[in-house]
Amino acid sequence: MAELYELTITEARRRLDAGDITSVQLTEAVLERIAAVDSQVRAYLAISDDLAMRQARAADARRRAGNATGPLDGIPLAIKDVINVQGLTTTCGSKIIENFVPPYDSTAVARLKDAGAVLLGKTNCDEFAMGSSTERSAFFVTHNPWDLERVPGGSSGGSAAAVAAGAALGALGTDTGGSIRQPASLCGVTGLKPTYGRVSRYGLVAFGSSLDQIGPFAWTAQDCALILGAIAGADPHDSTAAPQPVPDYVAGLNGDVRGLRVGVPKEYFVEGLEAGVEAAVRDALELLRANGAEIVDVSLPHTKYALPVYYIIAPAEASANLARYDGVRYGVKQAGDSYWDELERTRGSGFGAEVRRRIMLGTYALSAGYYDAYYKRAQQVRTLIRRDFEQAFAQVDILAAPTSPTVAFKIGEKTDDPLAMYLEDVCTLPINLAGMPGLVVPCGFSAGLPVGLQLIGRPFDEGTLLRAGDAYQRLTDWHTRRPALTAST
Ligand code: GLN
Repeated sequence: MAELYELTITEARRRLDAGDITSVQLTEAVLERIAAVDSQVRAYLAISDDLAMRQARAADARRRAGNATGPLDGIPLAIKDVINVQGLTTTCGSKIIENFVPPYDSTAVARLKDAGAVLLGKTNCDEFAMGSSTERSAFFVTHNPWDLERVPGGSSGGSAAAVAAGAALGALGTDTGGSIRQPASLCGVTGLKPTYGRVSRYGLVAFGSSLDQIGPFAWTAQDCALILGAIAGADPHDSTAAPQPVPDYVAGLNGDVRGLRVGVPKEYFVEGLEAGVEAAVRDALELLRANGAEIVDVSLPHTKYALPVYYIIAPAEASANLARYDGVRYGVKQAGDSYWDELERTRGSGFGAEVRRRIMLGTYALSAGYYDAYYKRAQQVRTLIRRDFEQAFAQVDILAAPTSPTVAFKIGEKTDDPLAMYLEDVCTLPINLAGMPGLVVPCGFSAGLPVGLQLIGRPFDEGTLLRAGDAYQRLTDWHTRRPALTAST
């Protein structure tokens, strides 16, 4: 029988409802698992065990009184450390705000709390979510539970690794260019980037404001559906959080892909795509076809511009968003001879190398004389990229593609080569530029390491993505595989 920390959310909920287990038992089991394995994985920047145990006891009391608040009541989850939880430090993986304690909850977290979730702690990430390996955290590197010498992906590597290691039943991450989907793929778990505007960004520390979205990690599409249902929807605190009604995502999971038109964009089978990754993705497509889906070749002709366009727009937005960190109210502060001197020293030492690179790239792209040539041009090409998707979705219901060209790579392998690191997201960042939702489900292994299938949907059609991902998971058992991680003594 599975250990409690290995349960899916759906199964844990069934056992909680049946009275077989309590949230206190479940939460204790996960906290013990964290104690046993997190010295190796290092998924967590901070563990909020007091808060978690208080919430677990409250959840049990509600259940005993017949007042359980829904499917997440009593379920232990982890939160990426760019998302505010009132009273817990938000570091964003950065020294520049390492002692910032937010006095309020982000909307996503407030909604998880309302749904009764138990919060285990804050997970590690690349500094300000800039990166694809979690090696850019200012604090430490997170290790992939499938092979501790490899990266978990990033930037939400701590959240993905926590789920994969049994150190949380689910987690929130954020995805600006791939930061939920790529680590989900590299850690062998399921991850969803919702449509831009599906989930409020209030209380999420901004990286690229036109690209960022909060979304869930869990073992299954069904569990991601539960979390998305809890956190999605309009929010008076964020005018970009869309008013579209939030459907019952779980009710839509009927296991059926018959007649589903699945487009396969040829541009996503990129140069440098590992043979084992391609084979796993093609096998998954074949299985969908064998079960009644119609597989159609499509083209998204502007795909090749997505990487350069992203690396203008995302740094431009980041340079504006990060201008507020001046060390005056919180974080590190370096003394200097004047205000400017202080600012230069503070920002020069408080931000890590990758963040400084983004600020310089972004400031350059926005500066007078270059704005039209770079930023404006990039926005125009972004429109062409979005139109590619609109045209494809006139023919098909969803798209299917690889998530990352590679499986998890060795720690240190790409840190000296920013371009190699940026190429990790070549199959994910066009989706952010277009604002579409993307779901990643485990679809096999290459050289013993997990591979994820990426499904891309129409705006606000997470329902179809989740239905396809869930149907795939009813046909396969990749999402039931667990890494052979042994407790350190
Ligand atoms: N790896 C990409 C970057 O560094 C995407 C990061 C993200 O999605 N937050 O910008």
